[in-house]
Amino acid sequence: MRLSKYLMPTLREVPAEAEIVSHQLMLRAGIMRKLASGVYSYLPMGLRSLKKVENIIREEMDKQDAIEVLMSALLPAESYQASGRWDVFGQSMFRLKDRSNRDFCLGPTHEEIFTETVKATIKSYKQLPVTLYQIQTKYRDEARPRFGVIRSREFIMKDAYSFDKDEKGLDESYQKMYKAYRSAFDRLDMDYMIVDADSGAMGGSGSQEFMVKSEIGEDSIAFCDACNYCANIEKAVCVPEENLSKEEMKELTKVHTPNAGTIEELVAFLNTTADKFAKTLIYKAEDKLVAVMVRGDREVNEVKLANYLGVTEVELAPASDVCEVTNARVGFAGPVGLKIDVICDNEVANMQNFVVGANESDYHYTNVNIERDFTPSHIGDFRNIEKGDKCPVCGKPIDICKGIEVGHIFKLGTKYSKALDCTFLDENGKAQVPIMGCYGIGVSRCVAAIVEEHSDEKGIIWPMNVAPYHVNIVCANMKDEDAVKLSEELYNKFLENGVEVIYDDRNERAGVKFNDADLIGIPIRITVGKKAKEGIVEYKLRCSDEITEVNADDVVKMAMDEIKDKLN
Ligand code: ATP
Ligand code: MG
Repeated sequence: MRLSKYLMPTLREVPAEAEIVSHQLMLRAGIMRKLASGVYSYLPMGLRSLKKVENIIREEMDKQDAIEVLMSALLPAESYQASGRWDVFGQSMFRLKDRSNRDFCLGPTHEEIFTETVKATIKSYKQLPVTLYQIQTKYRDEARPRFGVIRSREFIMKDAYSFDKDEKGLDESYQKMYKAYRSAFDRLDMDYMIVDADSGAMGGSGSQEFMVKSEIGEDSIAFCDACNYCANIEKAVCVPEENLSKEEMKELTKVHTPNAGTIEELVAFLNTTADKFAKTLIYKAEDKLVAVMVRGDREVNEVKLANYLGVTEVELAPASDVCEVTNARVGFAGPVGLKIDVICDNEVANMQNFVVGANESDYHYTNVNIERDFTPSHIGDFRNIEKGDKCPVCGKPIDICKGIEVGHIFKLGTKYSKALDCTFLDENGKAQVPIMGCYGIGVSRCVAAIVEEHSDEKGIIWPMNVAPYHVNIVCANMKDEDAVKLSEELYNKFLENGVEVIYDDRNERAGVKFNDADLIGIPIRITVGKKAKEGIVEYKLRCSDEITEVNADDVVKMAMDEIKDKLN
């Protein structure tokens, strides 16, 4: 491709809306353009990398016997109503009506549609197991679209769904996807972690996320270097400390704590430390209010709470509800005398003579003790794990990092097959529901994650496997006839050999071309400059600073060897 005839609108300036490196570079390198918040168009360079990422994923799925299909993005409401997710998705689902006033949505994920498809096409156990997948555009009206295509409202996902006749089959299908994911992310040159993930209240039996470690990640991962335990913080298990020193119970005392409604204010007021407090938070789960207690310096893990309560989501109760159940302003809730269920984290259950809100504005109780002063309805693991906590497997200190979720594999069970009445006939001619798994990869998010990981201050450094082109021939001066002639020769040689090559034949200064070359990050740059007459060109890899002068006769083979070596 000749750049003089190409569409590669690179930008010098860093676009103001882009906060993170990959977003900035994808805009600056002419990979994509923003159309609306969380909605992007891919330009030629971006499309080529996107297709390469798709193809790597496709090849690895095919190797594991998954079968590609393509479903519509425009979906009738009925299947989602049958599964209950028409309501569950709430505002994050794009909804629309057709001319006859029928409800439709733009698919956020396709469990229902694949289940319908299998229901309509698979009748017998002899046709199982089957794993179907697609690489297709998804729509989610995210509350906070950001970071370009890392969290966008239209994005490309590879989604796969397995159908098995029994649990053993599901385990095997799941393992095959696990393998496919590992190979795909290896080939995409991504530095990923595989973390245990939450499987929700709906009884999924296993789930793992593929995360790329990154400061900008929205997920927190707890990991242990000693034993390789690795879990999403939503899921990571907290082991309660053995309580060695039992204090003697002191007398329950109500103290006046004017305007000390936050832990910081209380710590200052009572001149002690946050771990001597237990905070009581009032949550709303569906329509029920519950109180949850964690140590003053800890955070409630809402996923663990929702799972325990058997709901999909919990939220902090609005102030009006808090005031009603506690008879106090927000900030003074406590378990003593509270009329709703009190759920207690393991750590609080081990505390003695601690401080809690008194359910009266401006008052706290000190020297509170479980059983004597209140009885929790349940004690369990309801807090977030923190750096330095004990690893639940080996006991060594846990560390925490941030990650971007690029893929997710999930044992679903029969939730959708049951809800949509999808059955097959077993060996005895009896109708059974298939057991499902679902497996997603954020394809467009992967492109951004690769850029985030492979770049320097000058621009992108594409790994060979996903680079839009492999070779960039830069003709330093289009007025130099020898340079132009040699550039053309090399360009044609590469084309004859089927190499993915671009030729920068624009009437621009050499400096502009070099800057663009660094920005767009094609792995091999060949500069044809002053020594063209002598048949000498410069050879440079984007991933290195070294520039070597080489004979033009050798450079094509050199580049092709490099490409062959790096492609896999
Ligand atoms: P997240 O927690 O990031 O919102 P999710 O768990 O809701 O993601 P899944 O339903 O598991 O996402 O979707 C499968 C994959 O699709 C995710 O692993 C992620 O890589 C990708 N993905 C999800 N939401 C988005 C989005 N808004 N923009 C880009 N990619 C996304
Ligand atoms: Mg997920």
